[in-house]
Amino acid sequence: MKITRYKKVQKYLKFYYNNYGFRQPYQVLIDGTFCFAAFKEQVNIRDQLPKYLNGQAKLLTTRCIIIETEKVAKKTHGALTILKQFGIHECGHKEPIPGNKCISTMISKGNEKHYIVASQDRDLQERLRKKAGVPILYLHNKSPTLEKPSKPSYDKVNPTIEANAPTFISNTQNEMLKKMKKALGVEEEEKVRPKIIPKKKKHKNPNPLSCKKKKKKPAGRGDRPNGPKGVSENGKIKKQDRNKSKHFKDKLANAAATNSQ
Ligand SMILES: [Zn+2]
Repeated sequence: MKITRYKKVQKYLKFYYNNYGFRQPYQVLIDGTFCFAAFKEQVNIRDQLPKYLNGQAKLLTTRCIIIETEKVAKKTHGALTILKQFGIHECGHKEPIPGNKCISTMISKGNEKHYIVASQDRDLQERLRKKAGVPILYLHNKSPTLEKPSKPSYDKVNPTIEANAPTFISNTQNEMLKKMKKALGVEEEEKVRPKIIPKKKKHKNPNPLSCKKKKKKPAGRGDRPNGPKGVSENGKIKKQDRNKSKHFKDKLANAAATNSQ
C-alpha cells in the first residue's frame, strides 16, 4: 500500500475514533454490490479489508442483503458465495426488504453501532453522506477505499467553527465594527495610548545641587570686595578688582585705611 493511501485511511479512522467512538474490531457492513465488485476484480475482501484498515475487522451482512443477492445472483454465483462467508447481523426485518433500505435502517439511529458501510451503490452512498458519522468504503478497481468523512460528519463535530469564523470581513461588517468601536470608546483609547508613550518628561526644576553651587560662587566673590565696595560706593570697583592691577589694589588699600580711621 502506498504511504499516502495508508496515511489517508489512518487519518479518517482517527477522525471517526475521536469523534464518533469507532473502535476495533471495525464492523464493516457489506452489501451485494460490494461483493459483485470484489468478485469481478478478484479481490479477497477477507484479507484486504483488515490490511487496508490496519486493524481487526468484523465483516457483516444482513439476511435482507443475502436474500436480495440470491434473487439477482443466479448468474453470478461467486458474489453470493463471498457474501455468505460473513457474519449475519440481525436487522429485524421479518419480510426481507431491499439491501440498501436495510442498511439505511441499520444506521438510522445515528449509526450507534459504528458500522462502516461497504457498498458500490451510488444512491445509497449519497444518502449515507448526508448523515453524520457513517464511513463509506468502496472498491476503486482492486483497491478498497475509505471515503473522506462527509461534510455533515465534520459539521456535527465542530458546528461553531464554521458558523462563527468567516474567512474575511466584508466592507459593511468593517463599517459596523468601526461604529461599534466608536460607540464603546475603544478606538479613542487606542489612539490616545500611543501618544502618551513617546512623550518625554521635561525637567521643570533645575537640579538643586547645581543651584547651590551657582549661588555659592557669586556670594564668595561678593564677600571679598565687600569692604572696599562699601568705601568707594562705586560699582566699577568690582570690575577693576577683577583686573587685579597692582596700582588699583594699592589705591583700594589706602582708601580702606583712611576710612577705618
Ligand atoms: Zn433487513
